[in-house]
Amino acid sequence: MQKTDLKNLSLRETKDLFLELGEKEYRGEQVFNFIHKNMETSISKITALSKTLRDKLEKNYTIGDISILERYDSKIDDTKKYLFLLEDGNIIESVAMKYKYGTSACISTQVGCRMGCVFCASTKEGLVRNLTPGEILSEVYNIQKDLNTKLSNIVLMGSGEPLDNYENVIKFLNILHNSKGQNFGYRNVTLSTCGVVPKIYKLADEDIPITLSISLHSPFDEERKKIMPIGNKYKIEEILAACYYYIEKTNRRVTFEYTVINGVNDRKEDLEELSRILKGLLCHVNLIPLNPIEEYNKTKASGNAIKEFKNGLNQNGIATTIRREMGSDINAACGQLRRKYVKG
Ligand code: SF4
Repeated sequence: MQKTDLKNLSLRETKDLFLELGEKEYRGEQVFNFIHKNMETSISKITALSKTLRDKLEKNYTIGDISILERYDSKIDDTKKYLFLLEDGNIIESVAMKYKYGTSACISTQVGCRMGCVFCASTKEGLVRNLTPGEILSEVYNIQKDLNTKLSNIVLMGSGEPLDNYENVIKFLNILHNSKGQNFGYRNVTLSTCGVVPKIYKLADEDIPITLSISLHSPFDEERKKIMPIGNKYKIEEILAACYYYIEKTNRRVTFEYTVINGVNDRKEDLEELSRILKGLLCHVNLIPLNPIEEYNKTKASGNAIKEFKNGLNQNGIATTIRREMGSDINAACGQLRRKYVKG
């Protein structure tokens, strides 16, 4: 029989488990605290529990973990890219980036992805499987332990579409936020989606004020469909309506990610249409220089073209920034490193 991973349980579930085992409820809280605050990974080390109870637990339960397979350190900046090995042999990647305000991590929510965005290396072999809440938490805990620091921000923007692994991602967020664990502020978490409209509405109703980030990449449906197949299912208009709802419910500004691709989405008409559709929306545009992958032979727009695009948006009243390129010497674009490693 497969052992149950205690890292996947919420505080309530952990307490209930101990009640079912005929133990006091507070034992559940001790274990939750041990796993999620102390980030410990072995039941035998929970010395707050008697040896007999630990032995009993170890028969049917475990604390799952992932391990660092490789760490690549950028020589240009302080970016660190991790390849993590999962217990079933799958590999995922995460990135830690140092900013003035602290260290931010970009983490994965799935092994692979089925969304098929053409510029993305994570999707080339499709979706392998969803990550469990415990595995997503393990990315955070391993990075924090490795860097001996508490992360200031977490971005769900690594491999996978977070809203395609909805239940596990919500549980991950709840456990991460719990005051008996990491007590991590929702406001310091950003969830990036390619635009799974019904799930954006669902997320808005969860009452968890994280930042929603939409991968837009083109203001025209026809163009967007060519680079993001999800565009065949949901129109930009529908995504924007979901964003209005999200803002109304959470009072949070929505971010639009826009990878600037030379000659594809950096034209005058793109600028005008983008300004038109975002007018009046509580939002922010993040322009990203394209990080080329082998399978997508487009070039990134020049630094000047990106600056001009930014100035144009700003002049039209749309708050816009250009994302700093981080770790460009270590294949920091989503999915590139894992793919290289797996392909050998
Ligand atoms: S950009 Fe995100 S949603 Fe699109 S294929 Fe890559 S991981 Fe999936």
